[in-house]
Amino acid sequence: MSLEFRDRALGKKVVRLIHSLMLDEAVRIMHVCGTHEQTITKHGLRALLPPNLELLSGPGCPVCVTSAKDIDEAIFLAKSGATLVTYGDMMRVPGSDMSLAEAKADGADVKVAYSVNDAVRMASNTKNDVVFFGIGFETTAPSNAATIFNKPPENFSILSSHKLVPPAMDALVGDGDVNFDGVIAPGHVSTIIGTRPYERFAEMGMPVIVTGFEPLDILFAILMTLKQMRKGQSKVENEYARVVTEQGNLRAQKLMNRVFDVTDAYWRGIGEIANSGLAIKSEFCQFDAREKYDIDVGEVQDLPPGCSCGLILTAKATPEECELFGKACTPEKPYGPCMVGIEGTCHNWWKYGRYGVE
Ligand code: SF4
Repeated sequence: MSLEFRDRALGKKVVRLIHSLMLDEAVRIMHVCGTHEQTITKHGLRALLPPNLELLSGPGCPVCVTSAKDIDEAIFLAKSGATLVTYGDMMRVPGSDMSLAEAKADGADVKVAYSVNDAVRMASNTKNDVVFFGIGFETTAPSNAATIFNKPPENFSILSSHKLVPPAMDALVGDGDVNFDGVIAPGHVSTIIGTRPYERFAEMGMPVIVTGFEPLDILFAILMTLKQMRKGQSKVENEYARVVTEQGNLRAQKLMNRVFDVTDAYWRGIGEIANSGLAIKSEFCQFDAREKYDIDVGEVQDLPPGCSCGLILTAKATPEECELFGKACTPEKPYGPCMVGIEGTCHNWWKYGRYGVE
């Protein structure tokens, strides 16, 4: 941890500036990153802000936006005899009928890994087929692209559920019902894609601040947004310049373009978004689980009845507005996807919001 980004005195100063620059009207800023939500809730940043300034979550939690159909497909493969390898966060996310953890309890072969390299090692040490569940945004896609490009063992394949952040922002910013005034853009994703893909949102009148993950990063991003709004500006600014560049990681981008085709993708609770997913190119079809296996999952239930994740993931509601929050849905017993992992908005609000504390 860098102490300069936990400087209490500087934090107080930035909060004072935020209050002094706050507009009379309500201001709503959306972030698109589960780690940003964690920083905001864990450090109680919302409590420091003017009452008419709201920080809202967008579709930035990768396990939350992974479609129920993709989870069902992963469960189908695990139940069909393959070893399904996934990140730990994905285990308890409900599919249409069950989660991967429940499938494992039923006897399916599901294993947890920290990275795709673990899954490749597993494949090297077994004759069984190993399928890695490739979820996440531009942050996790390059390592999976590199794995496929470097010819993993023949018994290895990837079930690609990768998603791209800018097209999802397109869908929200271009929505006639847009209900936010600025965007805090994700630091990890921007490390790969750079700041250029956000220019089009600035041209549409939306201030965009690419932001890091320390509390001070978030506070600075809010301050920078307010400064732009006061001046009537909308531009892309890079608060996370210590890591993110304008062009991003060109090598990672090249690898992704080499291995994946951009395709339409279904975002859980949101719907299909054009050009927002990554499918493995036919040239590498021997490592594409969808080409390798005859997957049949039947009818899909996008979200369980009553779950408001779709509204939360589009900055249209907060967890408190879901009637199930903290009742039928808690981190111990998650009912909807936003309550499961450390990047889920409902999970963070419950964990750090002192709900249920007498
Ligand atoms: S509290 Fe649970 S049911 Fe409600 S929106 Fe969040 S994840 Fe869905």
